Amino acid sequence: MAHLQKLTDLKGVGPKLAQQLEKLNIFSLTDLCFHLPFRYEDRSRVIPIGGLHPMRPAVIQGEVRGASVVFGKRRSLLVKLQDHSGLINLRFYHFNAAQKNQMSVGTQLRCYGEPRRGASGLEMYHPEYRVMEDGLDDESEPRLTPVYPATEGITQQRLRLLHEQTQELLRNHAVDLPDLLPDLLPDLLPEQWREQWRLPGLSEALLFLHQPPTHVNLAELESGQHPAQKRLILEELLAHQLSLLQLRAQVQRDSAPAILGDHALRKSLLAQLPFSPTGAQQRVTDEITADLQQPYPMLRLVQGDVGSGKTLVAALAACDLLQAGYQVALMAPTEILAEQHLKNLDGWFAPLGIRTGWLAGKVKGKAREKALEEIASGHAQLVIGTHALFQDDVHFARLGLVIIDEQHRFGVHQRLSLKEKGEHSGMAPHQLVMTATPIPRTLAMSAYADLDTSVIDELPPGRSPITTVAISEQRRPEIIQRVQEACSEGAQAYWVCTLIEESETLQCQAAENTAEELRAALPQLRIGLVHGRMKAAEKAAIMDAFKAHELDLLVATTVIEVGVDVPNASLMIIENPERLGLAQLHQLRGRVGRGSAKSHCVLLYKAPLSLTSKQRLQVMRDSQDGFYIAEQDLQIRGPGELLGTRQTGLQMLRVADLQRDADMLPQVQAMAQDLWLKHPATVGPLVQRWLGNAGRFANV
Ligand code: ADP
Ligand code: MG
Repeated sequence: MAHLQKLTDLKGVGPKLAQQLEKLNIFSLTDLCFHLPFRYEDRSRVIPIGGLHPMRPAVIQGEVRGASVVFGKRRSLLVKLQDHSGLINLRFYHFNAAQKNQMSVGTQLRCYGEPRRGASGLEMYHPEYRVMEDGLDDESEPRLTPVYPATEGITQQRLRLLHEQTQELLRNHAVDLPDLLPDLLPDLLPEQWREQWRLPGLSEALLFLHQPPTHVNLAELESGQHPAQKRLILEELLAHQLSLLQLRAQVQRDSAPAILGDHALRKSLLAQLPFSPTGAQQRVTDEITADLQQPYPMLRLVQGDVGSGKTLVAALAACDLLQAGYQVALMAPTEILAEQHLKNLDGWFAPLGIRTGWLAGKVKGKAREKALEEIASGHAQLVIGTHALFQDDVHFARLGLVIIDEQHRFGVHQRLSLKEKGEHSGMAPHQLVMTATPIPRTLAMSAYADLDTSVIDELPPGRSPITTVAISEQRRPEIIQRVQEACSEGAQAYWVCTLIEESETLQCQAAENTAEELRAALPQLRIGLVHGRMKAAEKAAIMDAFKAHELDLLVATTVIEVGVDVPNASLMIIENPERLGLAQLHQLRGRVGRGSAKSHCVLLYKAPLSLTSKQRLQVMRDSQDGFYIAEQDLQIRGPGELLGTRQTGLQMLRVADLQRDADMLPQVQAMAQDLWLKHPATVGPLVQRWLGNAGRFANV
């Protein structure tokens, strides 16, 4: 078997099957070895036909007593199979002549299938079967039957045949001839670890998982606790962690401007503010300052709950670069948020003589040309915008710092592509990433291992707690009444419309309808509407009017999720909260509770609620702590949704499960550091093995 190198070297694999295997992310023999069963069936015991139970899959063996084609609603082949204890009908709707001829009276068949109640007692539909030849029936060592992830055109039986070949390979490798294929599956973990943690060898672990013996503890296997699984999980998590360390190392090979100023601009900025930074803002700013003094790019994630004052931290970071003559780019995920930043920051910086620039998707034609020109010439010093800042024709004169607000919406790729934007005469910009979606620690470690993390764990003084209630949609009239009362007492309110539809048009339509309904019900109130399809200027005008208290009630889609800051607003109604993630609800709710008045949030749900929805709304009522809410969200929904993982690469985990295996992460992190420092030669191969074909983001 030593000559096996490619998939097509296996028996039965031609170019066509090889291509189909690619759909399962199997590109090489190694990939095939790592294509593991997702469950097992115990087919080692033959059950007497008389002892079968409906719906309980089982193996039976008996003699064919007759086979005939019957014409009912659909033509089928009916085979009567008998053993010493009873008789059962096997029914095939798809069959060919050869199959039919095979079923001659007296033939011994072994079948696996699920018995169901049919017209003639128990029947098995399309069982897997094998004709038993004399003397060949019993396997010496019974094994569980693996069930593999499959895809159209590749059956389980096909996969099992392929795996029988790889298993032979693994067996040789594990037991007899460890040196035969050192290149195929080298054990990359240091010998010392294997001893210390009692880890099984790689080939042994794989072999075991492809065909565990029947006496194995299935519960242990199903919960991912078997040492063979632990070994692979560890390796996979390590590989992910290492790939992020690689990214980080790659970025930090660049030079970046080392900023060693007297912070004069910062001081002027702070002097004109009506407040001083909180202790947490100060601490995080100090951490950033230390990073900026290094001659290589800062890569820092700032986590701060909604309202914790991330904008000021970003502005203070920007000051040092601006003072040193560099440009700063600040990017936000939505236009409305970017506009808020523009307004705030321009308000802070214009008096200091700093010129801001603006670029969003909707900036077109002449205006766009002018914006690009100002960015390219360096006239615009602080450039604020949306994804539009990523576009190819955007060139900066001297970009020194990139700030990304609300990281969870941007992918690793995008973040890295900005690095290229900033490259000028061998210099790369510093990167500051800010997120208001607190990420549970364990997840942050895996998803953002390439970033240093700071946490703003303190809110500015004077915030008042928000009381949250969940109320059924049936009590809508009461809630409308409540809005009326709050607003007539001088408060302002948000009414947030959400829809599950992907279509923005439908969402906006819903918001328009609601606005109309509320205008009819509350004629005394001044009601405004914002949604994503309005022109930027129109949106800005409405937001300004709301801020200036020229409007009492703002009806909005979730475009106001982030960044909107109106301290006088103290009531928020959220429609269909059961459709939103907890992080998003927390974001939305953070729009109130910003002033001194007591604030309220009403979750106006549609009954009946599922159990999960009930739990989630309960979490919102119980807590206002973003980190607690994120932990609960993780418990309830799993890590994928929480991180928007499509972008982080973590959705490609093959054996590990971030939630189930969370307790391993601190260990994995330490091991990754150790491997990185002491066994650098294994890093590349390990990353390649686990992320090779799927995780190309390693070499962005
Ligand atoms: P977020 O972290 O959600 O982005 P912002 O930066 O928008 O929060 O800040 C929320 C509000 O708190 C803003 O009105 C901001 O001016 C105000 N703020 C920020 N820092 C302080 C502080 N140290 N003291 C008082 N108010 C502050
Ligand atoms: Mg913000």
